Amino acid sequence: MTSSKGLKLTRQRQIILEELRKVRTHPTAIEVYTMVRRRLPRISLATVYRNLEELAAAGLIQKLTLAGSRKRFDGTVEEHCHIRCLKCDRVDDVAQVLVPPIVEDVETLHGYQLLGHHLELFGICPRCQEKARERREGPSHSQAGREAKQKER
Ligand SMILES: [Zn+2]
Ligand SMILES: [Zn+2]
Repeated sequence: MTSSKGLKLTRQRQIILEELRKVRTHPTAIEVYTMVRRRLPRISLATVYRNLEELAAAGLIQKLTLAGSRKRFDGTVEEHCHIRCLKCDRVDDVAQVLVPPIVEDVETLHGYQLLGHHLELFGICPRCQEKARERREGPSHSQAGREAKQKER
């Protein structure tokens, strides 16, 4: 099996691709290395890294370079947006492709022939929000506890 750009899918690349496509976590190279080592016990981090770069260059995976975060890899190549948690650095997919209105106007306003755009979303993930609530409210963070606190005020 070869890709559209003629990259030979060696057993190593095949396994890296399979493992990456199984997850939605957008792992870093080191995380991919940990994932594939179960099936490729002798593979080195450098080899995993090189294969990831080659798979990305061939368009079989996506390489994500998000500001302030480590480089990550995504087995989903269909166009989609990402949102990153500023606290725990997790990256999730955003289901719909968001096109900000500015993208549609930029050719008219600035005269550029627009070839693409890169939208970066960041925030606090549900788990980190929950953790922050627990820290604020102590161990009793139930709905009842919250309501009681609101009445006290
Ligand atoms: Zn988080
Ligand atoms: Zn993704």
